[in-house]
Amino acid sequence: MSEATRKPLVARLAIVGAGLIGSSIARAARQRGVVGHVAVADQSESVRERVRELGFADSIHASSGEAAEGADLVILCAPVGANAAIAAEISPRLKPGAIVSDVGSVKSAVVAAIQPLLPAGVHLVPAHPVAGTEFSGPDAGFAELFDNRWCILTPPEGTDPAAIDAVREFWRLLGSRVEIMTHAHHDLVLAITSHVPHLIAYNIVGTAAHLEEVTRSEVIKFSAGGFRDFTRIASSDPTMWRDVFLNNRDAVLEMLGRFGEDLAALQRLVRYGDGEGLFDLFTRTRAIRRGIIDEGQETAAPDFGRRGAEQKQP
Ligand code: NAP
Repeated sequence: MSEATRKPLVARLAIVGAGLIGSSIARAARQRGVVGHVAVADQSESVRERVRELGFADSIHASSGEAAEGADLVILCAPVGANAAIAAEISPRLKPGAIVSDVGSVKSAVVAAIQPLLPAGVHLVPAHPVAGTEFSGPDAGFAELFDNRWCILTPPEGTDPAAIDAVREFWRLLGSRVEIMTHAHHDLVLAITSHVPHLIAYNIVGTAAHLEEVTRSEVIKFSAGGFRDFTRIASSDPTMWRDVFLNNRDAVLEMLGRFGEDLAALQRLVRYGDGEGLFDLFTRTRAIRRGIIDEGQETAAPDFGRRGAEQKQP
C-alpha cells in the first residue's frame, strides 16, 4: 500500500490542552499522516482562537468530553493537576476500546488520578515524552519536538498489550524512541534527571535575586559565567512545575536527600582545599556529559545546544 493510501494508525485523535506539548503532537501527527481527524480541546478561549489561526486541528472544542467523543486515542496534555477533572469529564463519552493516554512529567500520581475514573473497556496507557522547551502555549509547539527523543510509557499492570503496542507505534511514528517502565521507577529516574535539576535552578536564580552585595545588573551582565544556563531552566512554566513537585513529592525528597549529602561532601573538598578530590569529581561528571552527547541527546556545539527552539529534558 502506498504512503498516500495507507490507513492512518489513529482514525480520531483527541488532544486536551493545546499548549507546547499538545500542539506539537497535533502538528507531528498530522504532518506524518498518523491520524485521520485531530480534535483539540482547550479551556481557554484565546488558546482555541489561536489554534484556529494556526490550523493544526480538524475540530476545536471548549468541552474535552465533546472532543473525546468517538476518539480512538485521547491524550491529556494539560498540567498534571488538571487530569482528574478532565478524566471525569471525558469518561462518560469515551467509546469502548478507546485508549486514554497523557504526557505528564510525573506518572504515579497521574495513574492514581485517572485510572479509577475510566469505564471498563477503556485502556489507560500513560506516556511521558522526555522532550520540551521552556516555552508554553500553542505557538511554542513544533512537529519536530519529539524527533530522536525518548518517550516513556508506564502502563499499569494488566494493561491490554494491543493498547500498549498502539501507543508505542504512535510515538515511534512521531519520531520518538520508546521505553516502557513502571510508573514508580519513572518517577525516581525523572526526579534526578529533571525534577531536582529544575528545583536547583529555581533555587539558585532565587538566591541571586535575594543578593544585596551583588547588584541585579551585575548578575545579568556577567550571567555567561554559568548562571545564564540556570535561568533558562528557571524560566519554565510555573503551573506545570508546581504540579510536578506537588505530585512527585516522595521521589523528589529522596533524591534531594542524596543531593544534600553529596553537596556537603563537595563543600568539605572546597573547605579543606582538596584539589585532587575536586579534579576527580569534575572528571567523572565530564564523562557523563560525553555519554549524553554520544547518545544523540545533546550536541557538543559551543552554543550549548541552543538551536532556534531550545530543547531540554523535562
Ligand atoms: P502549556 O503549554 O501550558 O499548555 C497546557 C494547556 O492546557 C494550556 O493551554 C491550558 O490552558 C490548558 N488547560 C489547562 N487545564 C485545562 C483543562 N482542564 N481543560 C482543557 N485545557 C486545559 O503546557 P505544556 O508545557 O504543554 O505541558 C503540558 C503537560 O505536558 C504537563 O502535564 C507537563 O508535565 C507535560 N510535559 C511538559 C513538558 C515541557 O517541557 N513543557 C515536557 C514533557 C511533558 P490555560 O493556559 O488556560 O491554563
